Amino acid sequence: MIRNFNDDISTPEKFVVTLELVPGRESSGRATDSIKSISKEAAQDGRITAVSITDNPGGNPALSPDALGREILDNGMDVIVHFTCRDTNRVGMESRALQLARMGMKNILALTGDYSGKGFGGRGTPVFDFDSVILSSMFKDLNRRLIKTGHSSIFTTGCAVSPFKYTEAETWVQYKKLERKIEAGSSFTITQLGYDVDKYEELLLFKKEKGITIPALASLYLLDKRSARPMHAGRVPGVHVSEKLFQTVMQEWEDAGEGMKHAIERTARLGVVLKGIGYNGIHLGGIHDSFATVGKILDRMDAIEHNWQEYVEEFREESGKRFYLYKDKNRGAAQAESLRKEKIKVKITENCHYMFLKTAHDLFFDKGASLAPVYKRISSRLDQSKTSWVLKKFLEDPFKKVLLSCQSCGDCGIQHVGFLCPESGCPKHTRNGACGGSNNGYCEVNKDKLCVWVRAYQRMKKHGETDKLTCEFVPPRLWELKDTSSWINFHLDRDHQKPKEPTAKAL
Ligand code: SF4
Repeated sequence: MIRNFNDDISTPEKFVVTLELVPGRESSGRATDSIKSISKEAAQDGRITAVSITDNPGGNPALSPDALGREILDNGMDVIVHFTCRDTNRVGMESRALQLARMGMKNILALTGDYSGKGFGGRGTPVFDFDSVILSSMFKDLNRRLIKTGHSSIFTTGCAVSPFKYTEAETWVQYKKLERKIEAGSSFTITQLGYDVDKYEELLLFKKEKGITIPALASLYLLDKRSARPMHAGRVPGVHVSEKLFQTVMQEWEDAGEGMKHAIERTARLGVVLKGIGYNGIHLGGIHDSFATVGKILDRMDAIEHNWQEYVEEFREESGKRFYLYKDKNRGAAQAESLRKEKIKVKITENCHYMFLKTAHDLFFDKGASLAPVYKRISSRLDQSKTSWVLKKFLEDPFKKVLLSCQSCGDCGIQHVGFLCPESGCPKHTRNGACGGSNNGYCEVNKDKLCVWVRAYQRMKKHGETDKLTCEFVPPRLWELKDTSSWINFHLDRDHQKPKEPTAKAL
């Protein structure tokens, strides 16, 4: 009988094993045959709960996980479909979700997605109409609709989280975003990949501190010479391979046979450590040719499981200047809390920018302020007399272009990002927290620029206001407001903050 991912993941005593498979840029042929045969053998083996299929990995075109997933499902193996926000807008995404529901493919890994890569004719348009939090809320809403129309099976939506962030700002923002994803409907999470047991454990400690009960699967990867190089160089967003591990892997693979033996042993050892520290399962990647390797890893895990503590030190990094949220595990939550409250120094220009925009926002864009009714009346008059363009052209645009490189989206979200613009400041336009791709504080796409969320965290921390960052669900930008006055839209309750915003209500 086909194993059911939702059933297995909802059974706390089960240790779940899922397998990540990566389709190629072909509709049939060797890579596709190999994915199908690995899945078939996995179903026969019986130890794998589901295979997960990537969605245009690296932003490059590949065979759709929906089409391939359906064939795999028909062959008796449950499937998790990766679903990113990069390639289609909200209309396309909802349509794809309906198609998946129709096809009976309801395990979803909701991701913001890597940045756009190259397809026919060059680099693709990076859409990012939603981020992963909003995407999860779309599935939550679809579930409501499915139930209403009498469907017995609904989407099981999961999310990714990257504990492998080594600056305080990135770590905090990742975990706060995880909370938003759960609030928006994620019912399981899969970590990014790293080989640092303290970071894997950090996520479990965070879950415990916050009372998060959704199951967590830890990513594992059969690390070979070819994959270690880009991972170590930071070319695979969100993945961490240390210098020491990289050098070791390079030496091991001087002889391919020895390299494979070491890779299997390392994967099995990390697997048992992750099971030992409390993960609900593992998510195994890096398997390209045959299921036999997976079988060897799982057999080896069975053989060494009782000794898992022996292997912990192998996966401990020299911490150096790296940030760990619970460095002293005995102090747990208290330590995390005191860290969060520490005040830090930021550049004077950064602080002035923040203070100026925050003051302006509190004076003019607070609906609870005493002058709010006056602003509303003025906005209404300008709007009725069709002269709002004057305000926009001669005051709003110059002000916001200089201070924020405003792109005139008409639905301003700077207050959610430490008074920085999520449109010009973030290539993925995230409004609910950083994607997993930042590296050492820098943007996945504009590698010489600090991630806009890192800047937001730092400027807010200086004022002890980090609690306000990603503290609530931010609905998606309203495209119908493009090139209109965001000031007027705010005061006339037209923007994403309007009291009856349907996406916020869906939560
Ligand atoms: S969020 Fe929109 S309105 Fe606000 S600064 Fe950015 S582009 Fe301009």
